[in-house]
Amino acid sequence: MKQSARKAAQAATTAAIARQQRRRFLTRAAAGIAGSAVAAPAIAQAQASVQWRLASSFPKSLDTVFYPADLIARRVSEITDGKFQIRVFAAGEVVPALQVLDAVQNGTVECGHTAPYYYVGKDPAFAFGTNVPFGLNARQQNAWWYEGGGRDVMAELYKDYGVVEFNAGNTGAQMGGWYRKEIRSIADLKGLKMRIAGIAGQVLAKVGVVPQQIAGGEIYQALERGTIDAAEWVGPYDDEKLGFSKVARYYYYPAWWEGGPQLSLMINAKKFAELPKSYQSAIAAAAAESNVHMLARYDVRNTDALRKIVAAGALLRPFPRAVMEACEKAAFELYDELAQKSKHWARIYPVWKKFRDDQYLWFRVAEFGFDNFAYSRPAPKPAPAKK
Ligand code: CA
Repeated sequence: MKQSARKAAQAATTAAIARQQRRRFLTRAAAGIAGSAVAAPAIAQAQASVQWRLASSFPKSLDTVFYPADLIARRVSEITDGKFQIRVFAAGEVVPALQVLDAVQNGTVECGHTAPYYYVGKDPAFAFGTNVPFGLNARQQNAWWYEGGGRDVMAELYKDYGVVEFNAGNTGAQMGGWYRKEIRSIADLKGLKMRIAGIAGQVLAKVGVVPQQIAGGEIYQALERGTIDAAEWVGPYDDEKLGFSKVARYYYYPAWWEGGPQLSLMINAKKFAELPKSYQSAIAAAAAESNVHMLARYDVRNTDALRKIVAAGALLRPFPRAVMEACEKAAFELYDELAQKSKHWARIYPVWKKFRDDQYLWFRVAEFGFDNFAYSRPAPKPAPAKK
């Protein structure tokens, strides 16, 4: 008994000495005077102070699309005990709204928050990073990105621009926009000057629309001045804020070109590679949180906004089915043509199309069954819009 007690005491002493040595080592390491070349860099890196700038494509006043950038910056700072600071700049403060990718690529800023389809002029395949007409809804876009190989096939495109990308926000299905005149048939689209971004503009051009790419903060003026006849932006919450109902009466749905458009956190690949691994993970986690949160924010805020818009006199109209079918036909013709123009489109489109068709197969069953029954029931009497 005596012997075993002695052994236990010896073991306790040895452990205490080891703990003491370890504490001493850590204290010295933290002070940057560790003798070991192996442990020191890891500790020093975890405490590195990093200051980045983020350029957003959106104005602060649009607090739903602007929100992910703010959330990412705040969360990354919190996770790193304030060591990694990202300063967020609204559209136009550092670079114009539609030049965020360029600014990230050339290192003017380390990162940016934007809609990839703003850059279809560089390569049409950027559209897959946001949404392609008659494509995926928000759920399916997420499924493609996180689990369906979407992020991987797109990474090759981003690599050409020296960019690493994380999806960071989704609006959900959008509205089809504001029109001065009613759209009764495809003939009503002929010659219509419309603000619409990305590949959707090219689809609409095939059926006679004259598409214009205008940043979010500038649409109202263009519609008011009559530079354009129609404009689409997002959905009730933003559209109500921007006051479009004052300058166009007809509010159409759905945006068949944006069933679930995704936003992106684009990061200069060289700058990203310089980050400690833990900071890279902080960005990944914060971006994923922003992706979920932005969609939730829209779903909650759109409800009251839609009530206000209708109360203000806007006339809600579904696009006629014949118009949607003509646009769908034009869209898939365009997709075959784009494969001749872009090697990235040629590479990504077939895998995207297969993914879409598989998702449609599944969504036709439970999701559609649920939605179709739920929304075909009589709606409860609407509550008055909140002031
Ligand atoms: Ca839109």
